[in-house]
Amino acid sequence: PRIVVGMATCGIAAGANLVLDTIMEEVRNLNIADVTVAQTGCIGVCRLEPIVEVIMPGEDKITYVEMTPEKAKKVVNQHIKEGKVVEEYNILLSQDEEHKIYKSLNDVDFYKKQFRVALKNCGVIDPESIDEYIAVDGYKALEKVLLEMKSKEVVDLIKQSGLRGRGGGGFPTGLKWEFTAKAQGDQKYVICNADEGDPGAFMDRSILEGDPYTVLEAMTISGYAIGANKGYIYVRAEYPMAVKRLDKAIIKAKEYGLLGKKIFRTNFDFDLEIRLGAGAFVCGEETALIHSIEGERGVSTQKPPFPANSGLWGKPTLINNVETFANITQIILKGHEWFKSIGTEKSPGTKVFALGGKINNPGLVEIPMGTPLRDVIYEIGDGIPNNKKFKAVQTGGPSGGCIPAELLDSPIDYDTLIAIGSMMGSGGMIVMDEDNCMVDVAKFFLEFVADESCGKCTPCRIGTRRLFELLEKITSGNGSSADIDKLENLSREIKATALCGLGQTAPNPVLSTLRYFRNEYNAHVNKEC
Ligand code: SF4
Repeated sequence: PRIVVGMATCGIAAGANLVLDTIMEEVRNLNIADVTVAQTGCIGVCRLEPIVEVIMPGEDKITYVEMTPEKAKKVVNQHIKEGKVVEEYNILLSQDEEHKIYKSLNDVDFYKKQFRVALKNCGVIDPESIDEYIAVDGYKALEKVLLEMKSKEVVDLIKQSGLRGRGGGGFPTGLKWEFTAKAQGDQKYVICNADEGDPGAFMDRSILEGDPYTVLEAMTISGYAIGANKGYIYVRAEYPMAVKRLDKAIIKAKEYGLLGKKIFRTNFDFDLEIRLGAGAFVCGEETALIHSIEGERGVSTQKPPFPANSGLWGKPTLINNVETFANITQIILKGHEWFKSIGTEKSPGTKVFALGGKINNPGLVEIPMGTPLRDVIYEIGDGIPNNKKFKAVQTGGPSGGCIPAELLDSPIDYDTLIAIGSMMGSGGMIVMDEDNCMVDVAKFFLEFVADESCGKCTPCRIGTRRLFELLEKITSGNGSSADIDKLENLSREIKATALCGLGQTAPNPVLSTLRYFRNEYNAHVNKEC
């Protein structure tokens, strides 16, 4: 028998630590032979944590949800010891509290429209076991690349796949690899951007906590492709579990000869180090991130030069985000045509979102690009709690925009989201209902970016502060229609003149709420609310 406990940060926040301790103790007390107790990462359906899976020899997997130490005790005593499923603890089907037994979580509505590429191993394998990673084809992509492919072939394959950067901008990943591969330099670097700073976003954290080896393997592949022998993972210090698992994974990969000198007994060397970020949102911007790794203050600098030519310590540097790297091994193993068969023509593949806010099923979801927003909100997310009306969904975090109900049938892809005034961003998706004031929502995000501005350029340092003050004036009932015009004009000025992406996108929440919810701004200045 095998018992698997979901031990990502979401599970632990819901009490998985106690559940795991109880299971270990009961297994010890009952002295049952051959029971394996393992941990896994986030399976995505946060509402049902703590989640425990039981696999009896020759039988289907049974998933228990919303576990407590008491329930865990009974599962060990009844299911493991006597072989009888504890039926009353099985998956909670929906809001009507009907209980049903499922063979696997794939049978739950939450997963039906999902397709897992980046999250393939999350919640499935033990993230601290390199053997489990290898058992699910881990390191096969690296082996194939090192033993069968030339560097240029790897770059070409990623280019042909059409993969676009999942950290926000959507720049073609293969082109970035090609620019860095072609750049002149005696030393090149690879950086994994794991500085996930959007409020409400936890995609990168979940991947690192649930499947760290996928990221290490992909970084090593990219090192081979561009000619780098050194990489850095820049991860927030606020993600202690991700850091711990990365640390362990690096040590193990070195032990297995999969990182360090002469990987797969070839002449290719690649080493990795972790660098901790201190929680500045701007350090997700690549030039600020590079300065932070160099030990300097995390502020953005003008581009060009782009990091591909002059990055870390002035050397050619490839920077990709965690989720981008999490797609690489699958593309290598299954080919660019397979990848392009998922999603849309201009946005192939999938995207991971952290679905939160006013939604029945919050959690981590991965959908094919092109999936309509409505499917995410109503089929995966199971709609709005308490029969309230949907009002808007914010995509792209503080740099994104609010999308209203009339655009719910829009497909989720890079270009459509920009066309409707939002952006993909790194993947935060916050749902708002009829009780949310959209001017308050814009104010919340503006306060965040004004605080996080690095202060280097005036439009962002002063402009975001002025936008916030105008929003405060309007929401406190002291604004006028002239203030709404000022808000709009200043937003456009900041977008056009700020130095880096943080400032250039900071006014998006204001502009998108003005575009779709201007009546709410008018209601404030006309003192109707
Ligand atoms: Fe710094 Fe903002 Fe200017 Fe970027 S836009 S350089 S974050 S002040």
